[in-house]
Amino acid sequence: MISRRAALRAGLLAAGALVLPRRTLAKDKAPAPIPPLPITIAVAEVGGAKVRDEAWIDAQMTEALRLFDPLGVPLRKVAARSLPEANAKLETRADRDALAALLEPKRINVMIVESLRDVDDPKLMRMGVHWRHRKTPAKHYVIVSASARPSVLAHELGHFFGLPHSSVTDNLMSYDRTGAPPFLDEAQSRKVQSFARMYVTEKLLTPV
Ligand SMILES: [Zn+2]
Repeated sequence: MISRRAALRAGLLAAGALVLPRRTLAKDKAPAPIPPLPITIAVAEVGGAKVRDEAWIDAQMTEALRLFDPLGVPLRKVAARSLPEANAKLETRADRDALAALLEPKRINVMIVESLRDVDDPKLMRMGVHWRHRKTPAKHYVIVSASARPSVLAHELGHFFGLPHSSVTDNLMSYDRTGAPPFLDEAQSRKVQSFARMYVTEKLLTPV
């Protein structure tokens, strides 16, 4: 799809404005690349065994990289550690909040847990959530359940980068999926890029 900027430029050229002032051209220069952003993954242990193995985590990461790398938003796994058994089954909002005590600063924190109860409708379980600590909402992190399908980490990272839900079938941020590979549209891509830049310029994440 042709971008609005490209369309404008094409329009200018068609109008014969081939000699653009230098400062107009400079404005069109690509912005500085976004440096790799660190992801730290903590996996709950139950009975001494992690609830999910490396291959399962790699599948989640692969899907996240497939969607975010083409936007120029590089994500790098920098650390892996365990979560205590006490934090493996998340039933309540307090259980989710408790993970804030285990965060690694200046990194995207991903917690893989054994189970994740829907706190709005306790009859349901969730595959993932982007959670903000209720008392200190600046602390926010991604929780992924061991029952998650491979695109759940990418979906929750979408929320981490400011995206709301979408009603478009097969969009990464939609619940309506046919099984086709999920995608992000142009407006979503720009939002992810601007959040990624904001996290770096505000020093909320330390690039790798
Ligand atoms: Zn969601």
